[in-house]
Amino acid sequence: DVSHGQILYLEDVQVSFDGFKALRGLSLTIEDNELRCIIGPNGAGKTTMMDVVTGKTRPDAGTVFLGQTMDLTRMDEAAIAQAGVGRKFQKPTVFENHTVWQNLDLARATDKRWFKSLRARPSAQAIGAIEATLERTALTDVVQRPAGELSHGQKQRLEIGMLLMQEPRLLLLDEPAAGISDDETMQLAELLNSLRGSCSMLVVEHDMAFVAALAGESGRVTVLAEGSVLAEGTLAQVQSDERVIESYLGR
Ligand code: ADP
Repeated sequence: DVSHGQILYLEDVQVSFDGFKALRGLSLTIEDNELRCIIGPNGAGKTTMMDVVTGKTRPDAGTVFLGQTMDLTRMDEAAIAQAGVGRKFQKPTVFENHTVWQNLDLARATDKRWFKSLRARPSAQAIGAIEATLERTALTDVVQRPAGELSHGQKQRLEIGMLLMQEPRLLLLDEPAAGISDDETMQLAELLNSLRGSCSMLVVEHDMAFVAALAGESGRVTVLAEGSVLAEGTLAQVQSDERVIESYLGR
């Protein structure tokens, strides 16, 4: 049963590809406003899990709930996005030829006439939302630059800003720190930490310094292996877990 204060609830989720079990009974609960890091070796099922939550892959069995009442299991991708689930893929996808401001403005448009909405003058409320997002993502200085000229880390922050413009309830982030400098990695950790309280986040990541910056000493970290949860606890707890050490070193 689903108790209060949960944003995401997976129970016994199964996914097979041609007989291969990518998820074999995955159960996971994310609390409201929690920032949960998910780690695990390649092939553990991390991408498949995010595909299931966003509706890209339909589970063969099991249950996926957003909040207490919304059954995502049979909803399609568009409806799940509409319900407030945002996803950031590993590679930043921004409109390279548009400025930072225009990217955020475009991200705000929720209907299909976004070409028009770019030309329409944004409301004072929309301007306020864009300015707040610029500040949050530390992109105010580059607001008039084409997104194509930004550093990789700035692009990652811009894409997160674009997702924020949709006011998501839950953000899924796939290795956001991959390929960015140490400084920008810490800046990204600062950004995600600052979003606590405004949305829940599920971050799949390999960079342990980044995970440490997000989880701190008391944040919960989930380790996936072979399609289910191998361990869950603080970073220190899971890093000293024999089964976790084995699942990483055994490959
Ligand atoms: P991770 O993201 O943790 O590396 P994935 O979810 O990508 O793991 O993959 C889990 C397992 O499922 C892997 O063994 C992968 O080869 C397999 N898999 C994932 N997607 C497909 C697919 N579309 N068809 C066949 N096998 C897949």
